[in-house]
Amino acid sequence: MGKVALVTGGNRGIGLATARALRTAGMRVAVTHHSSEAPPDVFAVRCDVRDAEQVDAAFTRIEHELGPVEIVVANAGITRDRLVATMTATDFDEVLSTNLAGTFQVARRAIRPMLRRRGGRFIAVASASALIGSRGQANYAAAKAGMVGFAKSMALELSSRNITVNVVAPGWITTDMTNALPDTVRSAAASRIPMGRFGTADEVAEVIAFLAGEGAGYITGAVLPIDGGLTVER
Ligand code: NDP
Repeated sequence: MGKVALVTGGNRGIGLATARALRTAGMRVAVTHHSSEAPPDVFAVRCDVRDAEQVDAAFTRIEHELGPVEIVVANAGITRDRLVATMTATDFDEVLSTNLAGTFQVARRAIRPMLRRRGGRFIAVASASALIGSRGQANYAAAKAGMVGFAKSMALELSSRNITVNVVAPGWITTDMTNALPDTVRSAAASRIPMGRFGTADEVAEVIAFLAGEGAGYITGAVLPIDGGLTVER
């Protein structure tokens, strides 16, 4: 039987591609979804990552149906893009509470059984914006940069228990999140990427699957850009 993996926000985009890559790697995969439905071929549990009780209930159900969760991909995230001058406190709070506090809620629930089992993998999906900032996304960049500090601290706390904690930092990836942007914004973004194109969700998923797999057992506290060179250029 394969290891049990959970991908939050695994019903579409990068999360769904990751769920499928982990399944291809032989894992038993569960995903969470929140406001939209999940495809019928994935084991899905509805959960708002901002809510500790819902997170606990989702883990409990997955543990009951599939077994202890050994691999967690904290992928759920949102944007509320605006320049700081016009950003509302709600824009800021929603992005921080979903991306950063949501990662904390998921990590806190995930770690206790991992500590008991003396092993596990935690992979957080941050963003290149955590490393270089992003106009119109100060709330998002702050949340993602917070995730980097959070994950590195967790890596220090957990490495002696054989639990690795790593971060991927995707650049511009084609998903609903970026398809919602105007064409002009997307073509301007593509022109700044050294590889000259957006990445695909599968290209992110493959890297996450590597970090979740046996071959990455000695990697912890790493922040891995998946960005076509975006963060090298700066
Ligand atoms: P999508 O917008 O396609 O998907 C977002 C996912 O997050 C959905 O599954 C959504 O569930 C889930 N979600 C949102 N809010 C909550 C919540 N409160 N509780 C639980 N789940 C929630 O995004 P992407 O696939 O593009 O992004 C996935 C991750 O990758 C995000 O963390 C994003 O910040 C990050 N990222 C994306 C990049 C890109 O260019 N696309 C670049 C860098 C990082 P539902 O559909 O049910 O609402």
